[in-house]
Amino acid sequence: MAAPQAKTWRGNDGDYRQISSGAGMSPVMDGVRIRRIWRNTAWFLLPLFVATVASAASTPPPVAEAAEIDYDITVRIDPVKRTIEGRSIITAKTSEELTLVLGRRFEVPRGRVDDSPLGPSAITGKMRAWRISGDKQIPRRIEVHWRGELSALDTSLDHPQTLGRNEPASGSAGTFLPDSSGWYPYIAEKLASYRVNIELPSGQRGLVAGRLVEESESDDEYRARFEFLAPTGGIDLMAGPYKVETNTMRGAGGKPIELRTYFHPQIADLAPDYLSSVKGYIELYEAWIGEYPFTEFSVVSSPTPTGFGMPTLTYLGIEVLRLPFIRATSLGHEVLHNWWGNGVYPDYALGNWSEGLTTFMADYAYKERESPGAAREMRRGWLRDFAALSPGQDAPLTTFTSRTHGASQIVGYNKAAMMFLMLRDLLGRETFDRALQAFWREQRFHIASWVDLRGAFQAVSKQELNSFFDQWLTRAGAPVVRIAEAGRTKLDSGHRVTVTLEQTAPEYRLRVPMAIRTEEGEEMHTLDLERGRQTFTLDVRTLPLEVTLDPDLRLFRRLMSDEAPPILRQIMVDRTAIAILLPESGEVRGTAETLAGKLQNRSLKLVPPTDSLPPAPALVIGLEEQVDAWLTRHQLPGRPEIVRGKGSAQAWTVSRSDGVTLAVVSARDAASLAALIRPLPHYGRQSYVIFDGAKAIGRGAWPTRVQAVKLN
Ligand SMILES: [Zn+2]
Repeated sequence: MAAPQAKTWRGNDGDYRQISSGAGMSPVMDGVRIRRIWRNTAWFLLPLFVATVASAASTPPPVAEAAEIDYDITVRIDPVKRTIEGRSIITAKTSEELTLVLGRRFEVPRGRVDDSPLGPSAITGKMRAWRISGDKQIPRRIEVHWRGELSALDTSLDHPQTLGRNEPASGSAGTFLPDSSGWYPYIAEKLASYRVNIELPSGQRGLVAGRLVEESESDDEYRARFEFLAPTGGIDLMAGPYKVETNTMRGAGGKPIELRTYFHPQIADLAPDYLSSVKGYIELYEAWIGEYPFTEFSVVSSPTPTGFGMPTLTYLGIEVLRLPFIRATSLGHEVLHNWWGNGVYPDYALGNWSEGLTTFMADYAYKERESPGAAREMRRGWLRDFAALSPGQDAPLTTFTSRTHGASQIVGYNKAAMMFLMLRDLLGRETFDRALQAFWREQRFHIASWVDLRGAFQAVSKQELNSFFDQWLTRAGAPVVRIAEAGRTKLDSGHRVTVTLEQTAPEYRLRVPMAIRTEEGEEMHTLDLERGRQTFTLDVRTLPLEVTLDPDLRLFRRLMSDEAPPILRQIMVDRTAIAILLPESGEVRGTAETLAGKLQNRSLKLVPPTDSLPPAPALVIGLEEQVDAWLTRHQLPGRPEIVRGKGSAQAWTVSRSDGVTLAVVSARDAASLAALIRPLPHYGRQSYVIFDGAKAIGRGAWPTRVQAVKLN
């Protein structure tokens, strides 16, 4: 789905996703994270300015080496009184008309553009905006003094709520002034460099992205000065009662890189481990891609369970930082975003490639390092998740901007990551890596699109890659490939295997991995499939016994229903899914309805239990005897062996003979059913779950089956 920031130069936030998935943690502690690159200012701009925004979308401004706009900001923040007072001098080296924006909660005692007063502002939503008319005389100097109150920090908010609230918040436990809250005056739709002086009461530490130029602390005050001289999309400010640990490393070019942790005292002991992990990641990616583009990297703790990535830092909730696997996964992902996302900026109007590439070179690369089996398991998860989407629910990669819901992550992160895997399989690891290094050298601090990426891969590999990129980027969905026929014949010397493959329209050009098992072992072949139906012959020396299509799951495709065992998510995300509630009345009926609503997150399509079963995915909820009776009445398979008689409640999926998925939720009694309301929605990736009260005591996915045909 296209988020609004696709059309602006300052898109609001980026992805967030659950870091709990697959990590075997309690579903209640869902950390989520966000990264943001541009801000979306379009939503609060006056109608007058909307035209400017729209035209900016069609003609992306090139990023100049030196920013046209520069901010020199000094802010004093009192987290206890929740006040902010600031002064900014904006230098604009452009003669065009500009829009100056500031949160409307702030008052402006003084504002000047060169020698003239700032004039009246127009108010839209939470923002106020001034038009600054064009002037040939450059540079122009805009000076703004502002002050006001900050909202109280609410540590009970979860990540999406923090995002949705979008307010500058402060308290002694922490201050977070998100760029999009308008906490400082800025020029809409423009990248800018900046210098920020932060003044806080003693005991507090504060930072923004960029280089720490100087800091000092006296008995009653802490001051720090940061600068960020590359053109960037916005400024977020964080402060808190931090203990700061530092470690200086030497980057690839010999330059020093300052690593810091800004941790709350209760997790200060985690600092050494985090510092050494960050160092490891920077070394990994410098060797793999090229020099780290900044002079520092900080890990900053947040009193709310948020997760943001910005250039030179990541801002993660205290509880998130405590999770043992964060250092091994999310941290590396956020460090890598300093190359992809915050080092080279995606051209959002043409699709965000940075999440897919980051997922491929971080999350997936760590699995490859762990073992081939772990990497295959991740690919299987991607394909299984994709298979759980109903046709038409996904969108082409070129329309992906940021994660807004489950389907957009399945495409924007996973499909894109798998596309990079197929590209590496096609070009070879060495060529693939050289192309990425060239892309980095050429595009650092520039806005780059999928087209630029394709150009880099073509130039280095000297291969024409238009159709490859085209089919994976501009089409929604995925190919469906099956073995239509397979046989063997005896030759004078050796044997011949004949395999006919079919794919549904529109046809893709695919390199289909095919394994032939012979009396001596397994051989891998690659079949170039271009048409809807195509026959291949392969000669082998010893007697061939079986052929298997893509056994290693390296091809992005829609798994056939046999290959993709049904998971609970299917009836959660499929908008055609119906709900059948077996309890007919009373409190337990209400509980079943609430649970169904939580799982499907939309108004329910209820079908009475007595009706015959329509050919749509269905969620069935009831008490044990009701469920057993209903399954028998509809001649469906009974309770699976693996869940039978266990726990106080169970949920499992069934693939009906026509391929349609059913999810069944069965509880011993009303209380056991009510206990599922909170945890069950977190188990979408499972085929079955067993609960004891609200605690999952068993879970798993039905085994996937490969497409194999015995030869005779
Ligand atoms: Zn990311």
